[in-house]
Amino acid sequence: MLDSVRSRLTLWYTAVLAIVLVILSLITYFIFWRSTVRRTDANLAELSEAFLVTLHAEMEDQRGPDAFKLAAQVAINEHLFRDHFYAITDDTGKVIVSSLDTPAANLEPDSSATGLLSSPSFQEFLEASSRSDRLFGEIKGNKGGYRGFARHFSARGRNYTLFILQSLHAQKEMLEGVTSTFEWVIPIAILLASVGGYFLARKSLAPVVAMSSHAGRIGAANLHERLAVQNEKDELGHLARSFNSLLDRLSQSFERQQRFMADASHELRTPVAILRGESEVALSQQGRSAGEYRESLGVLHQEAARLTRIVEDLFTLTRADAGQYPLQSHDFYLDELVAECVHSARTLALAKNISLKLEELVESPIHADESLLRRMIMNLLDNAIKYTPGGGSVTVSCQRVGAEYVLSIADTGGGIPADLQPRIFERFFRADKARSRAENDGGGAGLGLSISRWIAEAHRGRLELTRSDATGSTFTAYLPAPASPTASTS
Ligand code: ADP
Repeated sequence: MLDSVRSRLTLWYTAVLAIVLVILSLITYFIFWRSTVRRTDANLAELSEAFLVTLHAEMEDQRGPDAFKLAAQVAINEHLFRDHFYAITDDTGKVIVSSLDTPAANLEPDSSATGLLSSPSFQEFLEASSRSDRLFGEIKGNKGGYRGFARHFSARGRNYTLFILQSLHAQKEMLEGVTSTFEWVIPIAILLASVGGYFLARKSLAPVVAMSSHAGRIGAANLHERLAVQNEKDELGHLARSFNSLLDRLSQSFERQQRFMADASHELRTPVAILRGESEVALSQQGRSAGEYRESLGVLHQEAARLTRIVEDLFTLTRADAGQYPLQSHDFYLDELVAECVHSARTLALAKNISLKLEELVESPIHADESLLRRMIMNLLDNAIKYTPGGGSVTVSCQRVGAEYVLSIADTGGGIPADLQPRIFERFFRADKARSRAENDGGGAGLGLSISRWIAEAHRGRLELTRSDATGSTFTAYLPAPASPTASTS
């Protein structure tokens, strides 16, 4: 049951509400109790004032040894109310007169007050009253006990203490009424709130349930479908938008994968078809000369080499995409690698009557994956030679500029049309498919530049086409150089 967010929300809501209600009722009870006590105290103080005024007035009229007692009895009779109790003690603490001796004519004697004067609680209060001029306190007794007030006064040169006690029975009954009201109101409020909370949670989560069931129906076949966004600004709208943008990214990458697969199979189909066609022709014609067989084998070999290159390139890119192409970096000199690559490409350039120039190099130590960098430089050199007509030239330079090595390969080919330049680093992109395929042996699959760019980026560098017009193209690779000792000491 707790596995459902709805139930958990309801439970939390109910628990919080229950705590709030309990705290609220405790505070209400306390405030109620305190105001009752204050009212009682004010009442007792007022009563004592009135009582003393009457007592003093009565004493004017009374004569004789019992004058005080008689005046006190008259005053008690006059001010005695239901649930009240009076007592006057002299300065030795002895009760001289009390309302128990003189029950008022209109009131029944309070049976619960019998024995009150001798009760330990009253004795304690009596003792405490001797220490302060005015004192309020609680006296234990039947039916909720009493609230007591004691004050000293003097009459005819003698000191007395007046005690007025008010039964707390009525107040106690009222507070019990409040408590019992809370006892049934709180559970009912919690029950109603939890039912309401459950429906509220169900209603608020309904769009989430709808979204999740819609999302559950989205698969490869309907990846274009999107979740409905009801209110863009609320949290659920935000969730739906985030999910939709995730779907956008997924479907783009899915499309890219599909295009990649389609392009890859297309590229592989041509050499495979040539291999098959050539071998079929060779096998079907009997009595062919050794030279003819050699020629066929040459074509087969060339196509097989082309197939191998494409498969290797595809494999490299797939591993690079999956982040599974670990760089095997070590320290070497980039200038030496560049010189080696230029040396290797010299035959290719010579065959096309292209002059391959290497500008003066400076010592360029680097920490990188040598075989990947070799592949990048060879790709760029290969392209420069491939797309430069005979008689042209290719110039290679490598220098350190600030914190990076700048490796440039410039040719005097026909350049890349401006509108196609932004796309040349895309996979399987060839500016002129027909020409590329026809003009070079076997042709490229359009993967060389994407791999080269990945190699530069894997070394935290970049590869850019820095110039391409009718006079030729320049590709520049920027690779981070180690901090030079001279730079660091200066
Ligand atoms: P390819 O295997 O076709 O050479 P690349 O990824 O290496 O594939 O190059 C992509 C395309 O960029 C090429 O087909 C070509 O049209 C263009 N290109 C690359 N290098 C040059 C260059 N030096 N001069 C002119 N065009 C070039």
